[in-house]
Amino acid sequence: MRKEKVILKRIDSYDVQAIRHFTGEAIRILDIESKPRAFVKPNLVQATRYAEHAYTHPEFLRGVFKALNESGITERVLFEDCGLAVPLRHAFRTSGYNRLCKEEKVRFLNLSEAVHDAFVKIKGGEVHTELPLPSLLLQDGIRVYAPKLKVHSQTDITGACKLMIGIIKRSIRLHRHHYDLGRKIVDALTAYPPDLILMDAITIGINGVGCPDPVDLGVVIAARNPVAADAVAAWLLGFDPAKIEHLALASGRGLGPIDLSKIEIINPDGIKPARKGAFKERDIGTLNPHIRYFEGQVHDGRRCRGGCIGFVAEAIHYVNHYRAWRRQEKVGFVARALFRLLGQQPSQERPRSLGVVVGDYQGEIPADVKDNLIFAGDCTRADGVKPRVHLKGCPVYMGKKTLVFALRARLLNPYLDVVEGIPFLRAVVIERLIKVWNIITHHFFRRRT
Ligand code: SF4
Repeated sequence: MRKEKVILKRIDSYDVQAIRHFTGEAIRILDIESKPRAFVKPNLVQATRYAEHAYTHPEFLRGVFKALNESGITERVLFEDCGLAVPLRHAFRTSGYNRLCKEEKVRFLNLSEAVHDAFVKIKGGEVHTELPLPSLLLQDGIRVYAPKLKVHSQTDITGACKLMIGIIKRSIRLHRHHYDLGRKIVDALTAYPPDLILMDAITIGINGVGCPDPVDLGVVIAARNPVAADAVAAWLLGFDPAKIEHLALASGRGLGPIDLSKIEIINPDGIKPARKGAFKERDIGTLNPHIRYFEGQVHDGRRCRGGCIGFVAEAIHYVNHYRAWRRQEKVGFVARALFRLLGQQPSQERPRSLGVVVGDYQGEIPADVKDNLIFAGDCTRADGVKPRVHLKGCPVYMGKKTLVFALRARLLNPYLDVVEGIPFLRAVVIERLIKVWNIITHHFFRRRT
């Protein structure tokens, strides 16, 4: 049986020529068929001044676009939708994608504003049996995944397979984003499988996907098969691919191999994997000294890592990263004055202990956090204890958790950042208006034709 090929290459910096050359070689080695257009999906979960490693690097994409152009694909479409309730317009500009698309003459399809006028049936779908998509994405073309490799609190790693969570319409994005996350990922992957994967692992992200800390890995990965690509990426980071739930589920549904002996790894630079456990997520209770964490059982004793548990970890990472960034005082005089008015200067922090509970918690809650306790998630309870705040949802939005955790622990709050706040809100309003306009014009013209 023919083995899936995964190509590894050492590229230490975002050198456009090196990435362009690698992409051209990958197209040749993987024998990628030429088509009239390419649909490129990056990972742009969000982009702010303090989250500059959360997304596929624009210079990585530039190298990919140039190589696609050279292979005869002149019509290139970049499509994306953010996570974390971030307006894509804002992230698109802050990430540098806006300028990149103009310079490289690439069309941008904003999934937050587009009309999802087509439905894709999902064979064997367990969480979703069909997904709505803009019909443009279903036209004849090469589907290119361009993820950024990151360590993920809910899924160990995020690479090619998890990338397609970003094509799920926001109104249904969090549907069963809980202990069924692995199945949800496999459904989304089945809905829109790639022809080519080009993974940015030059600088990877750790300690949260929304606001990660960078680690220079200096590797790029190419493959045709997303499961094989992620299995090799997991191995590189010291994980056992068979123990990563969504990879095991994807492999079980016949989407690709996770057994490295069944993958042909083309590794001319002799890149070695990290030691086992090198990139393992830290225990949630150790992430922030001011936030104590209490985890109970959820759903038949399974850990709800894909839901509130992972989102609690993400929210704490987010607060931690933002606080560390703000301590560098990279803001001007006016912003500093505004932050002072809101009590959001680093010197104004007056931390107090906060307790966060997830699931059905049976243990003791220490006295020092009893009066400042948050229950996160619809299923959360603790016998005889009343929370100060019960955040409802299944799961609770990561943004809501971040906002409330920082408020209740009296820490610097990324959602009260005045510099990001104004363009953020402007982008939300414009995005909503354009979406409504697009829906109206779509229905009007469809009726007339
Ligand atoms: S409410 Fe309960 S089941 Fe739902 S995501 Fe949160 S922890 Fe999981």
